Amino acid sequence: MAAQREWFEKDYYKVLGVPDTADAKAITRAYRKLARQLHPDANPGDPRAEERFKEVSAAYDVLGDVDKRKEYDEVRKLGPMAGAFGGGGGPGGFSFRYENPDIGDIGDLLGGLFGRFRRPGGGRAGPGPSTSGPRRGQDLEAELHLSFEDAVRGVTTSVNLTSEAVCDVCHGSGAAPGSTPVTCPDCGGRGALDEDQGLFSFSRPCPTCAGRGALVEEPCPNCRGAGIVQRPREVRVRIPAGVDEGSRIRVKGRGTPGRNGGPPGDLYVVTRVEPHPLFGRKGSNLTITVPVTFPEAALGADISVPTLEGDPVTIRIAEGTKSGRTFRVKGRGIPKRGGGAGDLLVTVEVVVPQRLSPEERKAIEDLAAASAESPRTHLGV
Ligand SMILES: [Zn+2]
Ligand SMILES: [Zn+2]
Repeated sequence: MAAQREWFEKDYYKVLGVPDTADAKAITRAYRKLARQLHPDANPGDPRAEERFKEVSAAYDVLGDVDKRKEYDEVRKLGPMAGAFGGGGGPGGFSFRYENPDIGDIGDLLGGLFGRFRRPGGGRAGPGPSTSGPRRGQDLEAELHLSFEDAVRGVTTSVNLTSEAVCDVCHGSGAAPGSTPVTCPDCGGRGALDEDQGLFSFSRPCPTCAGRGALVEEPCPNCRGAGIVQRPREVRVRIPAGVDEGSRIRVKGRGTPGRNGGPPGDLYVVTRVEPHPLFGRKGSNLTITVPVTFPEAALGADISVPTLEGDPVTIRIAEGTKSGRTFRVKGRGIPKRGGGAGDLLVTVEVVVPQRLSPEERKAIEDLAAASAESPRTHLGV
């Protein structure tokens, strides 16, 4: 993991609207809320929402990852450093400017910093990968609505989203069908030019090929040579058994495409689970409320209880069972990730008849007459 130049410029905490002391849960919560609000599917054609969505995704890419966040926090501690980078970098450009020629201390600091953050094996003296080098695509998030049963059992389905994707006409090369991009003669395909400035040598994006390393002589008509288009796509996802409302499933490599040969981002599928008419959920336990009659509760009974798989189970209600008591049917709940399953929790509820036949009324009146003591004597009334 290498520090990104953006880290010096962006306050990711501010982007997500959380304090820098926020814990991982609070960060994820803030991110999800913003991602939902700003998602391109929810704001078609709104470039500002799209820009914000990208910012928020980039912020979460760092703050949502324990290791990256630690490095980012370290970089932030060197706050005043950010000034040394000057402005005007802009996307695709990297300008490194000294505001102060007397830079002994900053130089030491930079040396230490970049020494630590340099990519393993990377020979470049610049601060991590410059924007002209390969860039990883962005992570995306998409919601998936699932039935209660599919969430419990797992399902293979597809998610539809509109996002940047590799152009399906030129397959990302940017060259019109029948033509091929040629290696950039100025940078020899590297996409960057080295500039020696004494203390360091810096890379800047090759102006001839705009950092891509190749020149397209006849641009693809579909993407105008970008190799990437905004288009609807369908991504197959396998949802494991036992997911819950708000579970996040990572689909590797199905985010937006990388630039200049960088790897694609990931797609995160967030599940929205429909409620079930009979069953509820508590972690890996299934819950159900089952009505019982007063005689069943008072005298005891074997009662039949539905399960999610379909075949009912019989549970024994003991004599004198109170309304609201919960019985546990082991292993008939929701599959757990490490194997096994939770339990089915059956809560009995004594129902009071709303309408009585003459025989029932007579029987209940006899019961009332036979009840020796009021249940309220202990209340002193
Ligand atoms: Zn194309
Ligand atoms: Zn070039």
